[in-house]
Amino acid sequence: MSEQNGTIERVNTLIIGSGPAGFTAAIYAARAGLNPVLYTGAEPGGQLMITTDVENYPGYPEGVMGPQMMQDFQKQAEKVGTDVRYGTITKVDFSGPVHKAIIDADQEIEAHTVILSTGASAKWLNIESEQRLNGSGVSACAVCDGFFYKGKDVAVVGGGDTAAEEALYLSKLCPTVHMLVRRDEMRASKIMQDRVMKAENIKVHWNTETVEVLGDKLVDGVRVKNNQTNEESTIAIEGFFVAIGHKPNSDIFKGWLDMDEVGYVKTIPGTSKTNIEGVFAAGDLQDKIYRQAVTAAGTGCMAALDAERYLGEQGIV
Ligand code: NDP
Repeated sequence: MSEQNGTIERVNTLIIGSGPAGFTAAIYAARAGLNPVLYTGAEPGGQLMITTDVENYPGYPEGVMGPQMMQDFQKQAEKVGTDVRYGTITKVDFSGPVHKAIIDADQEIEAHTVILSTGASAKWLNIESEQRLNGSGVSACAVCDGFFYKGKDVAVVGGGDTAAEEALYLSKLCPTVHMLVRRDEMRASKIMQDRVMKAENIKVHWNTETVEVLGDKLVDGVRVKNNQTNEESTIAIEGFFVAIGHKPNSDIFKGWLDMDEVGYVKTIPGTSKTNIEGVFAAGDLQDKIYRQAVTAAGTGCMAALDAERYLGEQGIV
């Protein structure tokens, strides 16, 4: 249910994005009687749609496929009354007390509160073999997929904190972790670098770039090049983890919201509040550290509760 202001629809709570954060916010907002409207964005379901087995989300003792889990989230959100719509918010205007958003470049909606849960996207090397073997040995999340490579040799690309963290995580499961670093030093914090250097089964390959991920149906190796000598070699691996950073999907909020230098939306610690009253952020859009489905869901819940409180304080509901 929504008010009509002339021809412009006005809702209590607009949720932008359809990953675990958005759907959890929707479940809480709908149950609180806020009649939320959720726009899915161009990739309904978010990053979990490109994940296979999820074994670390509590409540699924047998594990669950990522796409199935997102279908379940959506079903639950709709069952409690969320109006889920397929469309992408292409522009926002947070200048007034009532917030505005443009859907698919031509339709406008107004909202008293907006919950932003547009997520982040893993960066890829963008080479053909990486894309072809994605989900068949190529992954961008060691915590999600590392378990499937227990007892197998793997490679991690990148030299930042994420790569270091992924390599350390995998070093507890895999006999050898090959870390492919494109320069002669890492960008990761000193403490993380020290940990990597201390791990006996992490082999760092400096000045090393990926030429091709090898394998027909499943990864069985990687062809690398030393960018100082141009010498190429092959490393036998069964898992290839890309950890070269994430990009928060925050472009349309630039100019309105406080963000860090990479574009992660800043929230007031311990809350989902942004610098704009009535605008809340949840999930990977505002979290560059944990980035898990369960933490995204947790912050989605926080955003709905913060929105509900705000609407109450303003006397809107
Ligand atoms: P970063 O941008 O910090 O690092 C990316 C790494 O990937 C760099 O080593 C970079 O190399 C390398 N890289 C980028 N593109 C390519 C490419 N095409 N081929 C090969 N290598 C490439 O991203 P992170 O995700 O590691 O970290 C993002 C932020 O999150 C950082 O501020 C980090 O500190 C923080 N973080 C903190 C954690 C914690 O505190 N526990 C955990 C994870 C992240 P180069 O250096 O040459 O550019």
